[in-house]
Amino acid sequence: MKLPDFKDFESFNELRKKIGTEELGYFELFDPAIHLTGSERSALEDPGMLLKADGLRVLPDKTLAIKNSRVLAYIPDEIWYRNHREYPSYHLAWCSQLEAQLVEHPVLEYLVTTKISDDYKLLKIRGSGEVSLSEHGLVVCKHCLHTLRYRDYDEFRNRRRGYSQKVLNEFSLKGFYRFYQQYPLSFAKSTLTEKTERDEKKSVLD
Ligand SMILES: [Zn+2]
Repeated sequence: MKLPDFKDFESFNELRKKIGTEELGYFELFDPAIHLTGSERSALEDPGMLLKADGLRVLPDKTLAIKNSRVLAYIPDEIWYRNHREYPSYHLAWCSQLEAQLVEHPVLEYLVTTKISDDYKLLKIRGSGEVSLSEHGLVVCKHCLHTLRYRDYDEFRNRRRGYSQKVLNEFSLKGFYRFYQQYPLSFAKSTLTEKTERDEKKSVLD
C-alpha cells in the first residue's frame, strides 16, 4: 500500500500553520538495539548494571553511555579503593584511568548507573567476613574532567591549578547533566551524516 505524502496534505499543512511550526519535526521509531526499554531504564537507575569496561559505549565527546542514555561507572568494591589508597570515585568519560584499568584488569566489573546522588552502593567486607552493600560518598574522577576539559579543567597545567581545584570542588552531577544531556540521546544526526557520507562514497565509486 502506498501511503499519501503528508507534506502535500492540505489539512495538515493548515494545522501546522495554526500551531506556528515551520519545521516538520523528527521522531525515531523504537529500536531495542539502540533505545533503552522501560525495565532497562529502571534497572540502570537502581541498582545499576554490572559491566566490564569494554561493554561501555563511548560517545564521540568521550562521555559514557548505555544505548541512548549517558551513564556514570564506578568499581563497586570498597577493598579495591583501600588497596589502591584511593578515595572512591565515579567516571563520566573514557579517561586515562579507565583505559589503564582495562589493560591491567580486563575482567574488572563496574557498576553503571544513571542515578544522580551523593552516595552510591559499595560492597563492604567486615572483619567477621560478612559481606554487605552500603551507601558511600563518591567523588567525580578528575581524569574524566580533564578528558572532557570540563569547564576548562586541566590536571597538568600548573598555572591553572587553583582554578581546576575550584572546578573539582564545585562539581555537581546535576550541573554536569545540564551541560551533557543524560537522556534521551538522539543519534538521528550522526546516523544521517554516516548515511550521507556512505552515499557520497558510493556515488564516487559509481
Ligand atoms: Zn575517570
